[in-house]
Amino acid sequence: MKSLVKSKPEQGIWLEEVKAPTVGHNDVLIKVRKAAICGTDIHIYNWDEWAQNTIPVPMTVGHEFMGEIVELGSEVKGLSIGDRVSAEGHITCGHCRNCRAGKRHLCRNTVGIGVSRAGAFADYISVPAINIYKLPDAVTDDLGAILDPFGNAVHTALTYDLVGEDVLITGAGPIGAMAAAVAAHVGARNIVITDVNDYRLGLAKTMGATRTVNVAKENLRDVMSELGMTEGFDVGLEMSGVPSAFQSMLDTMNHGGHVALLGILPKGAGIDWDKVIFKGLQVQGIYGRRMFETWYKMGALLQSGLNLKPIITHHVTADEFQKGFDVMRSGQSGKVVIDWAA
Ligand code: NAD
Ligand code: ZN
Repeated sequence: MKSLVKSKPEQGIWLEEVKAPTVGHNDVLIKVRKAAICGTDIHIYNWDEWAQNTIPVPMTVGHEFMGEIVELGSEVKGLSIGDRVSAEGHITCGHCRNCRAGKRHLCRNTVGIGVSRAGAFADYISVPAINIYKLPDAVTDDLGAILDPFGNAVHTALTYDLVGEDVLITGAGPIGAMAAAVAAHVGARNIVITDVNDYRLGLAKTMGATRTVNVAKENLRDVMSELGMTEGFDVGLEMSGVPSAFQSMLDTMNHGGHVALLGILPKGAGIDWDKVIFKGLQVQGIYGRRMFETWYKMGALLQSGLNLKPIITHHVTADEFQKGFDVMRSGQSGKVVIDWAA
């Protein structure tokens, strides 16, 4: 089958013929119809230090996808051939303390599709049936392909009560922009989003941010005065992974504020912990999606009218993958969907 493979330990990714995956008793085989390029795939493409330390070579990449079930393992129940599905990309062990307590998102033995085992940029992918999410009719094929990052946004944004609150989102990448959409949908008051990229800030505005701030040109405190925010933000969603952005969040949070950290900060990021302590902030690290509560919430948010469509800015076919990676790497895009079966 056709597959996008990290086949050499150097920059790039290559379209190659590989063997189709086998299907275990508890697995399903999915014919991939749409996939999307994640920031993680860009790290793998660039072959940065994280990728060099993490990614086995050769390996099929990709973990944001949807498709159709074409084969069921002998023990699989509740799913049928032909089901339109996406899948949770974190495969958990099922036997650690957290898994047994129903907190699978905290499994210490998590294995990632397209990171530690064969991924979704391929004609077929095999995944454990428990990871499958059946797509409601309200979720189009395109949106089905981006539920993984939407889930990051939903998990982070719904960690705290946003109703009527003033929310700061640092980082208007695809996930930050989608978090703005969630915050708007559930009734936050001011939704201020920062970035240094005007294209992405424009996208975040379309998605629901009430005020965008290019921190290279504008001062966040001036914006707060303009909005009449005398005390500070109630909720902070860190979605840039940039230390100065996180620091500006700590600086502008109200006392007793709530901060959720999704962005992956570089090792040794200097953080002014005094702000956390003396403001009595609550800080929560976020990893992946809640299994499978976040998936139910995503379906419900889309069914209740949250419009995610504008975040998909580009489509490419599998043969045009290089074009897709190039536009993602340029920063001048939202989500790039690969019409794999086209
Ligand atoms: P992204 O890299 O596309 O977006 C980050 C954005 O931050 C970019 O638009 C960039 O221009 C912006 N930025 C740069 N400097 C900034 C500054 N000083 N202030 C504000 N913004 C600034 O990433 P994404 O795919 O949207 O993901 C967001 C973050 O979440 C990334 O750090 C990613 O690694 C991380 N992530 C974490 C998890 C998890 O499970 N914890 C899952 C997915 C992604
Ligand atoms: Zn586990």
